[in-house]
Amino acid sequence: MAKILCVLYPDPVDGYPPTYARDDVPQIERYFDGQTTPTPERIDFRPGELLGSVSGELGLRTFLEGAGHELIVTSDKDGPDSVFERELGDADVVISQPFWPGYLTAERIERAPKLKLALTAGIGSDHVDLQAAIEHGVTVAEVTYSNSISVAEHVVMMILALVRNYIPSHQWVLDGGWNIADCAARSYDVEGMQVGTVAAGRIGSAVLRRLKPFEVGLHYTDRHRLPPEVEQELGVTFHPSVESLVSVCDVVTINAPLHPETENLFDEALLAKMKRGAYLVNTARGKICDRDAVARACESGQLAGYAGDVWFPQPAPADHPWRTMPHHGMTPHVSGTSLSAQARYAAGAREILECWLDGRPIRDEYLIVDGGQLAGAGAHSYSPGDATGGSEEAERFTAG
Ligand code: NDP
Repeated sequence: MAKILCVLYPDPVDGYPPTYARDDVPQIERYFDGQTTPTPERIDFRPGELLGSVSGELGLRTFLEGAGHELIVTSDKDGPDSVFERELGDADVVISQPFWPGYLTAERIERAPKLKLALTAGIGSDHVDLQAAIEHGVTVAEVTYSNSISVAEHVVMMILALVRNYIPSHQWVLDGGWNIADCAARSYDVEGMQVGTVAAGRIGSAVLRRLKPFEVGLHYTDRHRLPPEVEQELGVTFHPSVESLVSVCDVVTINAPLHPETENLFDEALLAKMKRGAYLVNTARGKICDRDAVARACESGQLAGYAGDVWFPQPAPADHPWRTMPHHGMTPHVSGTSLSAQARYAAGAREILECWLDGRPIRDEYLIVDGGQLAGAGAHSYSPGDATGGSEEAERFTAG
């Protein structure tokens, strides 16, 4: 019997939804590169239900308890008195989502001697100290591709929202105004702009594909270059360095994982190399940007706008400067947890658990760490080390 400890975000303030805005979600069978969507033996939920919050339980309870395992689900994840901390000591598996991350620091891994699997229901396993996972033989797996397109759609939305000045214009309507000049004084067309992505993996290349019809100049930088035929098809210019990319772009979108190479990449110096009045959209991870340098750049006008859904730590404390800096379009971490995405990553979490509990191999593309080293998707896109430093600050959050 295994003990599975699952950290999920709290239910809606009005309670778990009895009904939904739509009756179904489209069924996707394959992703753009041909990879199949998750293939668990079965699922015990209806796609389109809220699965990522505590009462949704990722649809796992019937399956796990039916097989004799123990499932504990909590949103109480930060601080020494949290349920997460109390239950961790004899857990075999920890499941967490990046939206409401159960930070698995080296200290916590040390205090969980039975821990064998850290499963990310979603994409991005930087909330786990990967170095400690490597050293303790903990397997880290995530549901690769499950919400990449969800994020790519969000990136396009945020670029348009910033450049066209959508959010302040909407606010004038809510305030009862008709202030056209106020709305127009910061509003531009995306057409003709130079747009660049830092990383052209699943999300970054999907953003390029979606932006091509907007008749913009497309740019990217990445550790590995895209095949020449893809560069040609998209008409995208490769930059060997992020400095080169930001120096020519009006809009920059960050789509790389957080690991030691990318932590604090957008610091004061790099922001200063961007064009004055550039827009920065970060749906990758908050820690890739220097928090205070971004806030200063929004105040000085070096950035015309900043948007994204990722913060550090999560949840962000009430006094986090990105809540109040000018010209931002921030949301809580939501882009990868649409109801459509939840159906895929809940099914993927089930697939990974079925494999692990049966002693069958987990799909290679789902692996980040395995056998004491970076593996699968992790070996391609991460570097060894830890990016969880400072996560204890999440304890400062109190729900508003
Ligand atoms: P992929 O693994 O498909 O793509 C990541 C890309 O980043 C790879 O092409 C990788 O390069 C590249 N990369 C890694 N390090 C660097 C670096 N130092 N400089 C430039 N490029 C680099 O992942 P996805 O596109 O699906 O997701 C990317 C990230 O987005 C996730 O790791 C996660 O942090 C975030 N995300 C956010 C979500 C949200 O809800 N906001 C949801 C899902 C993901 P290569 O492999 O060529 O070495």
